[in-house]
Amino acid sequence: MENLNPFQIVQMQFDRAAERLGMPEWRRQMLKTPNRNVSVDFPVRMDDGRIRMFTGYRVQHNNTRGPYKGGIRFSPEVNLDEVKALASWMTWKTALADVPFGGAKGGIACDPKQMSQTELERMTRRFTYEIGDIIGPGIDIPAPDVNTNANVMAWMLDTYSMYQRRDEFGVVTGKPVSLGGSHGRTAATGRGVTQSALAVIRAHGLDPVGMTAVVQGLGNVGGCAARLLAKEGVRIVGVSDASAAMADPGGIDMKALDAFLAEPGRLLIDFPEGKGKFLPRKELLLGLNADILVPAATENAITGANADEVRARFVVEGANGPTTPDADAILDAKGIVVVPDILANSGGVIVSYYEWVQNTQREQWREDRVNANLAEKLGTAIGEVLALAGEEKVSLRLAAYMIAIGRVAEASRLRGLFP
Ligand code: NAD
Repeated sequence: MENLNPFQIVQMQFDRAAERLGMPEWRRQMLKTPNRNVSVDFPVRMDDGRIRMFTGYRVQHNNTRGPYKGGIRFSPEVNLDEVKALASWMTWKTALADVPFGGAKGGIACDPKQMSQTELERMTRRFTYEIGDIIGPGIDIPAPDVNTNANVMAWMLDTYSMYQRRDEFGVVTGKPVSLGGSHGRTAATGRGVTQSALAVIRAHGLDPVGMTAVVQGLGNVGGCAARLLAKEGVRIVGVSDASAAMADPGGIDMKALDAFLAEPGRLLIDFPEGKGKFLPRKELLLGLNADILVPAATENAITGANADEVRARFVVEGANGPTTPDADAILDAKGIVVVPDILANSGGVIVSYYEWVQNTQREQWREDRVNANLAEKLGTAIGEVLALAGEEKVSLRLAAYMIAIGRVAEASRLRGLFP
């Protein structure tokens, strides 16, 4: 099973839940197959005057419950199967959070670390043009993901609006606040990771205050989750990024680390206070002694090969698809509770929904209103997953999928089949 790609993994997760729901095979095929897989090859002028071809993707998995929704990723590893998997996870995530969106994802195979801002801007604008006919505020709404951010969303918004000859603020979410973005969006995913970690730990009759945590990946999601967990009284004893992993059983000074990483382009390996605390290999981070492990980097971080090393009692999936099915079985056998990605990291898409509502209503909400709405919406989903997992005696992942798939299946049944 270990050689499964992320799309095969999400299909397997889907099948387990569909089986339990007694869903007929034809509806299973209908719901697990992406509606549209778009691949575009396009030229970009680089700063030295040369022209380079890039390949980009937009996969629209399902829009039964509302417009397609999902991030855009820039990474050398981006490929069609990865994007199909990420698009499928979005469908289940939006359904579980009960926001009126479907699921999509996109990306460009590129190495953004080797590109200048002007090259990234030209690439983003040309890609936006290439997919311009299949996105839109009521059609498909991109957002940031790995290696993309509010600036990239501003370029997409501007390009799409120029192309449409009118401003369309609702075409992307995760925009800068001064350009129709929502207060609280940047921190929303990490905030949701923190809320779901604390809620699930408390539901197990434990007090998270004074517990220890390890966070893999210090980007938007992991960095924010580490900061907020620390604020809640959880001691962060290990962190990593693509450059290094560090451990400090006494607790890492998150304020100092945050201040250091706030400068663009900075890496953990250069953190002066990390000296003497770096691990010989970053993979060793997963085996550190801590109560909570937050994988917040990329897919397939915890696999059949390393799941046995995990010593945490709670794994809270900040990243999408960080645990393979083999690893899931091992963690389960060890009694480790996994808070699944489609629940734990849904804070981002929940606040994206509120951003889109603000754009379509021409409103701007205060951050406390956004955060309160997020806490309520996510709190409902967490409560539903915990309740169903308890009733059915299944994992939180299976319960989450059963709820999500059940919602999409119900909407699909009500809509009927065209023609
Ligand atoms: P990001 O680009 O801001 O950060 C990624 C981080 O992971 C960086 O610190 C990078 O150095 C680190 N990293 C990469 N490879 C690593 C490795 N092998 N070991 C340790 N660290 C490594 O990306 P992000 O937006 O924080 O996204 C992270 C994950 O969360 C992705 O799986 C993404 O799909 C998911 N996610 C993001 C959002 C969002 O709102 N940004 C929402 C839901 C899910």
